Amino acid sequence: MATFVELNTKAKMPIVGLGTWKSSPGKVKEAVKAAIDAGYRHLDCAFMYQNEREVGEAIQEKIQEKAVKREDLFIVSKLWPTFFERSLVKEACQKTLKDLKLDYLDIYLIHWPQAFQPGKDLFPRDDSGNLIPGKATFLETWEAMEELVDQGLVKAIGISNFNHFQIEKLLNKPGLKYKPVTNQVECHPYLTQEKLIQYCHLKGITVTAYSPLGCPDRPWAKPEDPSLLDDPKIKEIALKHKKTTAQVLIRFHIQRNVAVIPKSVTPARIVENFQVFDFKLSDEEMETILSFNRNWRACIWVPTETWEDFPFHAEY
Ligand code: NAP
Repeated sequence: MATFVELNTKAKMPIVGLGTWKSSPGKVKEAVKAAIDAGYRHLDCAFMYQNEREVGEAIQEKIQEKAVKREDLFIVSKLWPTFFERSLVKEACQKTLKDLKLDYLDIYLIHWPQAFQPGKDLFPRDDSGNLIPGKATFLETWEAMEELVDQGLVKAIGISNFNHFQIEKLLNKPGLKYKPVTNQVECHPYLTQEKLIQYCHLKGITVTAYSPLGCPDRPWAKPEDPSLLDDPKIKEIALKHKKTTAQVLIRFHIQRNVAVIPKSVTPARIVENFQVFDFKLSDEEMETILSFNRNWRACIWVPTETWEDFPFHAEY
């Protein structure tokens, strides 16, 4: 089984990466170093995670101690919606590069399809507390992203949280120069994304699964929410393979040729989450896991639910 997903640029994205959202600046450095030691080469970062400086320090230390070379790493980051205006895109990318101490990214993603009002606040709000939309559209943002490729700041560009109508719109943009290489979306057995994955793969766009363990550390979790890691049916499959539930949840994506980016700051879990290349789920087990779909999202982005173009109102 391949340990890479091939992009439409022919570049190879390691199929398992380390997620870094909610990894506190005090912990993420050790987590990234532990991941590189464990064999991870793909790191999923974002300006929004506010920890790119520490991620960069870890990368730098590992390169300096010759544990890894820059070209062996695959680093992804994301443009936050307050930087959608054409004039802000390059500066945002340069800030991320500076923090990560890199001279290029392997992929730069548009983090979310809707623009927010530019400014210092990640979530700019009016006096009533409502999030303020921005004026730019992702189509003009995309043109500025394409320039980053031409300027050598990023090897490839992609999208995140786009539904298939939004992807279609992007692919039909007059003068499109580069197609997105991946659409990073929430995906796990409770949100299997079959139609979106099929659509993306048909268009030559890979899919990267975020929150593969159900994002148990999301700040808005409620006790009554479903818990993937405690699902008895997934536990049962894991037991059969002498693996953990987390390993089955990660392996599920690998067998769909979907990249997967579990987050952990716990060294033992970081190692565990990468030990997923020595077993195989049967076709029947894959079908069973797919049948657990209930279109449940851990990451809901409620503040923009009422805006036109909210990506999750569409079926896929
Ligand atoms: P996740 O990876 O589904 O879950 C992370 C949680 O699971 C943490 O609480 C972690 O705890 C725990 N965990 C990790 N490995 C475990 C194991 N083997 N056993 C038990 N618990 C384990 O959630 P996520 O952070 O939402 O998603 C992963 C990454 O996807 C993010 O970090 C981010 O890079 C990306 N993402 C992108 C978007 C987007 O909009 N593009 C949205 C969400 C996430 P400890 O850390 O304490 O070990």
